[in-house]
Amino acid sequence: MKIQTDTTVLDELIAALKEGQSFCLSGHQNPDGDVVGSELAMASLIKRLDPKKRVDILNNGPIPKSISFLPGAQHIQNVRKVEGRYDVLIVFECSGSDRMGDIIDFSAQVGKVINIDHHLHNPNFGAINFVEPATSSTAELISKIFEHAKMPLTTDEASCIYAGMVADTGWFRYGNTNPQTHAIASRLLEAGVKVEDIAERQYMSKNKTALQLLGKVLNNMTLHYDDRVAVLKLPETLMKEVGAKSDDTDALVNYGLEIDTVCASVLLKERTNPPGVKISLRSKGKFDINQVARLFGGGGHRNASGCLIEASLEQAEQAILKEMRRVF
Ligand code: 5GP
Repeated sequence: MKIQTDTTVLDELIAALKEGQSFCLSGHQNPDGDVVGSELAMASLIKRLDPKKRVDILNNGPIPKSISFLPGAQHIQNVRKVEGRYDVLIVFECSGSDRMGDIIDFSAQVGKVINIDHHLHNPNFGAINFVEPATSSTAELISKIFEHAKMPLTTDEASCIYAGMVADTGWFRYGNTNPQTHAIASRLLEAGVKVEDIAERQYMSKNKTALQLLGKVLNNMTLHYDDRVAVLKLPETLMKEVGAKSDDTDALVNYGLEIDTVCASVLLKERTNPPGVKISLRSKGKFDINQVARLFGGGGHRNASGCLIEASLEQAEQAILKEMRRVF
């Protein structure tokens, strides 16, 4: 499969990067590895165009501990509201502008919005929209911007892009991994990425609590519909009992998929503030879990989606299972 990139969009995007003097970079609320890797590589690109340009990386939510080692990550700020006005706002990895968590007023605080994303159903909310759902990750899109701008990647930039790509492809295991993904990864390694070093810091860096939590969650896992759907639950009381933090819940949902009969896995994470249940959904191959997320106002990709349900843990579980039966 060859992914055709719209070079006119890339021309416009690079012109906007050259023209703007102040930039706000932001991703979806509670940013993940793909958001952070993309933001850091982009911030570096803009600074290389002109070190005098102002570049702030502002997200609603802390960055995951697993990628806090990335070069420049210490400058990323966790804010509820962005102050002031910027020439350009670059939004990464947001299937809709609402995914940013209401941190900035587009009309009052921004000259031009650039939307860079790879989700299905992105409504193209920017003045410039570099959106490719067939591409594995937003980070992969950032590498295309460097290439089009004829800017060879530094090792730091390549490491940030690599970290974003592995976060969204599950270390090149998920169905969104394609020939282009591996071709780009190869160029990142040529730019000096140390695969073993990134794997150790990003993947093999969990603390004891995270594994204790995993043990308890797996013990309580239930299987439904001829063992085709796995349900994992994270009540607040369990989080408190083991002293777990949000970071410790990373990738829990994927474990359900490791069972041979399972084609969809659901993680229900209870929240008290705001009250409700955050749902993470994963599926294998042709099973389109995005359909289920969208029924509850969420979104994502065919095999990885999410939504928020304002209900108790039990009610949310019943509602999701009911729709699962219908959709599958
Ligand atoms: P996760 O389960 O890791 O939080 O999210 C998986 C995918 O679903 C990501 O692409 C993420 O952007 C998307 N996603 C998660 N929660 C929501 C949500 O509440 N609304 C939308 N539109 N997308 C979501």
